[in-house]
Amino acid sequence: MVDVSQDGTLPVDAIIELAGTPVYVYQADIIEQKLARLRNAFASSPVRIMYACKALTNGAVLRLMNELGTGLDAVSLQEVQLGLRAGFSPRNILFTPSMIAFEELCAVAEMGVQVNIDTISVLERFGTTYGGSIPVCIRINPHIMAGGNDRISTGHIDSKFGISIHQIRHVLRVVRSHNMSINGLHMHTGSDILNADVFLQGAELLFEIAESFPDLTFLDFGSGFKVAYKPDDTATDVEELGAKLCGRLSEFNATRERPVELWLEPGKFLVSESGTFLTRVNVVKQTTSTVFAGVDSGFNHLIRPMLYNAYHHITNLSNPNGVHRVYSIVGYICETDTFAWDRKIAEIREGDVLAFANAGAYGFSMASNYNSRLRPAEVMVRGGSAHLIRRRETLEDLVRTEIES
Ligand SMILES: *Cc1c(COP(=O)(O)O)cnc(C)c1O
Repeated sequence: MVDVSQDGTLPVDAIIELAGTPVYVYQADIIEQKLARLRNAFASSPVRIMYACKALTNGAVLRLMNELGTGLDAVSLQEVQLGLRAGFSPRNILFTPSMIAFEELCAVAEMGVQVNIDTISVLERFGTTYGGSIPVCIRINPHIMAGGNDRISTGHIDSKFGISIHQIRHVLRVVRSHNMSINGLHMHTGSDILNADVFLQGAELLFEIAESFPDLTFLDFGSGFKVAYKPDDTATDVEELGAKLCGRLSEFNATRERPVELWLEPGKFLVSESGTFLTRVNVVKQTTSTVFAGVDSGFNHLIRPMLYNAYHHITNLSNPNGVHRVYSIVGYICETDTFAWDRKIAEIREGDVLAFANAGAYGFSMASNYNSRLRPAEVMVRGGSAHLIRRRETLEDLVRTEIES
């Protein structure tokens, strides 16, 4: 968690003058630091970091990632297209969709993007269509419960993601009968992994399965690295994970004719802490039981608290030395729309600016126009100056796709 009010690195006044509120702000240097930390933690392996861009897809962020030398993990044709527009080479993109039309998969594969298949029937169709001419990666479900939250955990037995490790013999029959080339194996067990050992158990299963696939050039261990949201939160110890996973990979590579690369696809880890969401307090309302502070935003802009019960640390930038009082921070959407319950925050007055931390990942990218509200602006701070990287929407944007009959 990056507390902007404490370290004072965010030029808040300049940002608000440039873009107004509400506004998403991303600090490029924090993204760079996070990437460097991950690379360092895995430095003893041939590692490739594929940024999982569904977390945040603004072109400025994608271009920054490309500049910093990451690849891209995309989950839709449109994310692939945004990646290409931002300058990524198709070879540097991994396509990891779920339940999409076969035509979409083929369209992406024919662009030269690495595809990742997570269903046996799709694998079979792909083999029938392309044989061994397009190498594919297979997404395995190792059935481990890694993450802490039902909605973001993807590796468990009921999950729709991946091909079960119990179906590997079936996979091998499909691969052999169509002479398919399998160049990668993948797992992604969900977000918020706290325990490196649980992650490593899943990784171990991938290493075991990998022995049946001679053409592999990479093993992709997905992501799910947890970042700190609360001031006293523990995050994934990526250094411990890196040391253990790299150690295991070099043992594995010693048994192979061709060494495989280690791929990771962090989303949240790279961008969550880089982001701050700035809002302005419209109303302070004392009811019989609670003091509400209502801001000029809602779950239409930041849905994580309502959708995942997620915690975002909130600070009052306009009154940093104020007495702390207990508030419920709410939005303007006309249904229950709560960002934070019973939160101690420096005394809030109407007009104050509140900063939401950890707003880089799954903030703007999950924003909508519900209540016919305009989606916010986005700003990137780089080299000490603030750049508008998306203007606030206008009424014209809301009706652009409508047709009058
Ligand atoms: C969402 C997603 C990620 C990124 O998850 P984070 O928790 O943001 O790191 C990685 N890989 C795949 C396949 C995903 O769908």
